[in-house]
Amino acid sequence: MNHYNINPQKTEDILIVDDTPDNLHLLSRMLTRQGYNVRKALSGSMALTAAQTVAPDLILLDIMMPEMDGYQVCQHLKSDPKTSEIPIIFLSALDDVLDKVKGFQVGGVDYITKPFQFEEVLVRVQNQLALRAAELEILVLNAELETRVKERTQELEAANTKLLEMALHDSLTGLPNRSLLMTDLQQSIHQAKANHNYQFAVLFLDCDRFKVVNDSLGHLVGDELLILIARRLNCCIKPQNTLSRLGGDEFAILLTEIPDYDHVITLADRILECFSQAFNLERHEIFINASIGIVIGNCEYNEPEHLLRDADTAMYRAKALGKGQYHLFDPIMHTAALERLQLETDLRRGIEQDELVVHYQPIICLNTGIIAGFEALVRWSHPKRGLVAPNLFIPMAEETGLITTIGYWVLSESCHQLRTWQKQNLIDSNLFVSVNLSVKQFAQPNLLEQIDQVLADSQLSPDCLKLEITESAIMDNHKHVATILKELRKRHILISIDDFGTGYSSLSYLHSFPVDTLKIDKSFVQRLNLESENIGLIPVIISLAKTMNMNVVAEGIELVDQLEILRELDCGFGQGYFFAKPLPGEQLIKFLSSNPRW
Ligand code: C2E
Ligand code: MG
Ligand code: MG
Repeated sequence: MNHYNINPQKTEDILIVDDTPDNLHLLSRMLTRQGYNVRKALSGSMALTAAQTVAPDLILLDIMMPEMDGYQVCQHLKSDPKTSEIPIIFLSALDDVLDKVKGFQVGGVDYITKPFQFEEVLVRVQNQLALRAAELEILVLNAELETRVKERTQELEAANTKLLEMALHDSLTGLPNRSLLMTDLQQSIHQAKANHNYQFAVLFLDCDRFKVVNDSLGHLVGDELLILIARRLNCCIKPQNTLSRLGGDEFAILLTEIPDYDHVITLADRILECFSQAFNLERHEIFINASIGIVIGNCEYNEPEHLLRDADTAMYRAKALGKGQYHLFDPIMHTAALERLQLETDLRRGIEQDELVVHYQPIICLNTGIIAGFEALVRWSHPKRGLVAPNLFIPMAEETGLITTIGYWVLSESCHQLRTWQKQNLIDSNLFVSVNLSVKQFAQPNLLEQIDQVLADSQLSPDCLKLEITESAIMDNHKHVATILKELRKRHILISIDDFGTGYSSLSYLHSFPVDTLKIDKSFVQRLNLESENIGLIPVIISLAKTMNMNVVAEGIELVDQLEILRELDCGFGQGYFFAKPLPGEQLIKFLSSNPRW
């Protein structure tokens, strides 16, 4: 057996065809002795039957036979696919070159002239068998290779599909992602341009206070919740509409072919309704709301991004209007958003160009009737708009983080100002300045260093500085704020709670913070009038402050009646237009020099 044999167990099968029985037996015996399996045929037709019944590995074929000669037998075998591949060696006494050529022409692979030498026959037989075996092996290898290539191609195709799928889907929820949504939006825009009656809508959904879930219960729980939200949203929409996750807690729904607005509004209502039920997580039950911005798509849109932008703007509006609701985009909102952006750019520039100014509003001791200190209130002296009130830019500065720069500047400016006035003997050295601190400033890790730096630079005594913080600043980050307030107290800096009574009505925290002053919000003071005696919470706040050894400042006193009632209620301090509006520095000094007293 040679190594070409694909099946080493198999004995090679040789068919000998010869009409001379002696030849047949002789050859057969010799080949059998060599270990081959030999079959014999005495005529052409017998040979064909034998080969067709079981195809031999090799045929030794005599040429000269009655009825059907070897050439004919060979032609028959070659024309039948079942036998066409069997190698045939002609055996013949014909020794003419032409006979040999014919033998090769009809498909023979070799030619042996009789009388033969057995060694020659054996070598030629072995050669042909080896060739045939090699051929078969190549066939098998080719077939294997083909299957392997096919399998690999399928694997690659599957991997490609998977990759594409991953590139266009969100891994957490399996929903289409922003890229896929953009393609779908582009398609809807095309459709709207082709057919002006075609309308579609985009709903932009953002969960309200999702951050609280993440921060308090961890990201895994947040993820679990997002999966449930995705499932619930999917139940709200029809299969032809696409729900996608844009990232974080933001989802978008593309409604194609909407018949009318009502259709969209009904869906928005249905979504909000389905958010009213708790989400049952494995270990938690969570209630969460969502705000939805809606934009109706039409042929005027060119960019998918613009649709999303407008839906997003409407969603922000829904949040600003109190969350847990939907809002339909109105082009005016886009204008407003552009204005806001302009304002932000202007403010950044304004800060750089020193356009901020501080005005000071006196705070009066109601017992003595004289000025005890001032509140520093920032204004923006805009080159075109004139003096801009803080309400118009502080909220935006809070959102963008600019407030930390502004806050630091106001603190530094007012401390330096107060110290300068003290040095110039323009004011009493026991007057304080009250500076507003934003929640964002509390979140800054270097707040204390900043304050220390300002006090060191300005040489102002710490007990002349009061910091005003809001209730929400305290509630937002209880422990952190407590640490900072204790540090401030160590430095003898005073702390005042601004707009008291308007925040979280939880009073329990007051004990745990070193607070010096409560400022009653002006909304309470302004409801005060002699007729209705609408004094509301004011006496409660005043007595609360007394029990805890705190001062009280009533803000927003505009009328003498209000002042009188507050004096009767034994309110320690007052601030308001009745005494003075917030004034620029020089005007304040002029005002002080008239020694006002109430
Ligand atoms: P606030 O800290 O509660 O300041 C008191 C506000 O009431 C001031 O408004 C003041 O002008 C106004 N006010 C005083 N007396 C009366 C009155 O009799 N009647 C009425 N109707 N209003 C009176 P302003 O200056 O417009 O400031 C508004 C808010 O902007 C401040 O409220 C404060 O929250 C914020 N703010 C102002 N300056 C700064 C600052 O430097 N940093 C921070 N973080 N916030 C500031
Ligand atoms: Mg204030
Ligand atoms: Mg206030």
